[in-house]
Amino acid sequence: METKKQRLALRRWIGKEEERSYLEVPFAVDGPVERIDIAYRYERGGAEKTVVDIGLRSPERIVGWSGGAREAFFVGTEKATPGYLAGPIAEGEWAVLLGAYKIPEGGAEVIVEVELARPHGRWMKGDLHMHSVHSDGGYTIEQAKDSCKARGLEFMALTDHNTSSQNFAALAPDEQLLLVPGVEMTSYYGHANVLGRPDALRDFRVTTSGQADGVLGEARERGGFVSLNHPFCPSCPWELGFDVPYDAIEVWNGPWRALNERALAWWQAQLSQGRRVIALGGSDTHREDRFVKHGRPTASVWTESDTVQGVLAGIRQGRVVLQFNPDETCMALASGEYGIGDTIPRHAIGEQGAVPLTIDVCGARGDRVALWSDRGIEALWDIALPASAEAGEWETEAAQAGGWSVQREIAAILAFDASEDKEGCVPAIPAGAAAESGVAPRMAETENGRVRLHFQGSADRLFYRLEARRVVEGLDQSVVTCLTNPVYIGRAEDTGA
Ligand SMILES: [Zn+2]
Repeated sequence: METKKQRLALRRWIGKEEERSYLEVPFAVDGPVERIDIAYRYERGGAEKTVVDIGLRSPERIVGWSGGAREAFFVGTEKATPGYLAGPIAEGEWAVLLGAYKIPEGGAEVIVEVELARPHGRWMKGDLHMHSVHSDGGYTIEQAKDSCKARGLEFMALTDHNTSSQNFAALAPDEQLLLVPGVEMTSYYGHANVLGRPDALRDFRVTTSGQADGVLGEARERGGFVSLNHPFCPSCPWELGFDVPYDAIEVWNGPWRALNERALAWWQAQLSQGRRVIALGGSDTHREDRFVKHGRPTASVWTESDTVQGVLAGIRQGRVVLQFNPDETCMALASGEYGIGDTIPRHAIGEQGAVPLTIDVCGARGDRVALWSDRGIEALWDIALPASAEAGEWETEAAQAGGWSVQREIAAILAFDASEDKEGCVPAIPAGAAAESGVAPRMAETENGRVRLHFQGSADRLFYRLEARRVVEGLDQSVVTCLTNPVYIGRAEDTGA
């Protein structure tokens, strides 16, 4: 495996005679680099105070100067420390700039550490649905960013209703977050997120399927990725049909509730008919709330680079896992080199038609993991509660709010849902439903909260996907804690991967 990071330790002796001059400590950037981290130190003490300032230049220009204010900083393709410019990292000779402001008689040694990070594949966590003061949300953009950062997220989409002003207001690079441009087309007949281009949606006024065709089609032509939001929401469902142009379905909106249960069942039916629809989720957070929070659910997306386009490419490939919270149950599903969102090509499947599957689960605490295909549930595992189960964020929060357990938190969400969902069309799936599949659950012990499971799949299935649920004891109900997009089995018409 190619090393992701290259570290350089550089030294520069500064003589008294160099005081009040600018010096360069050069280093080379060879090949693709997505981020440069720099730290420096020198002896500051003594009667004769030493002050060495710092900055950075690329092969083309000065990219930033922090004087004596910071001991470390970074520049990345789309993120940077304040005072530095984010941007593509050019190959060639770079230099750390040192300002020899105050140097003692005996001189001073400066140690500079440079770390070059190569682009590499990784999962990044974010929230693809939220609102700010640019529509009916309570958060300013800065407050929404701070809340997402506090939740440990790495990207966010401000999907204000029928406007793009939030995207233009949030253009400046951040240190931690990637801002995915977004807008929620909000009509009286349904809502849809358009992600990826700041101004992809030109008109939201849709009252017929024909108009939705035109408006969403144009948004896609302008580079937008279209997700039909909360399609089975009792108060604002999608009523314009599913023949309109779209790329994904928001199967998980906010806390796990009946409307999500309905969307999940619809999605499963589509997949079972051979359609390939990407499942997304987003918190739809508008303001501070007991249950609705940034990153609930979290969308974990596989990206090959720390960029918005990388995240969008991962979403377009269906490399998306949804989690109840940023630090809750996470799962991965793979068959050899093919993972979530991929299609296993026919040529990679042996004559016996076996599809060996590897399942990785982390952070599960008493969850029941189900492996689904177009035939329904294929296997079930009960993940044992680790003996030293550390309380997760939602448990801690719940405890602070009055000593609630996970189960009572779930019960509260379900009660909240029942009060909101006046139509009550479909209740949450009873915990006992899995038993009806005729599949007996197996116990799986975790090691440090992690467990690897194996299953011998079959090429006569259309897909495999994972779903983890936590049961509410005494309520005979469960909530989804993690949901993966499928790994698809190649069909005759699929060529290559
Ligand atoms: Zn909406």
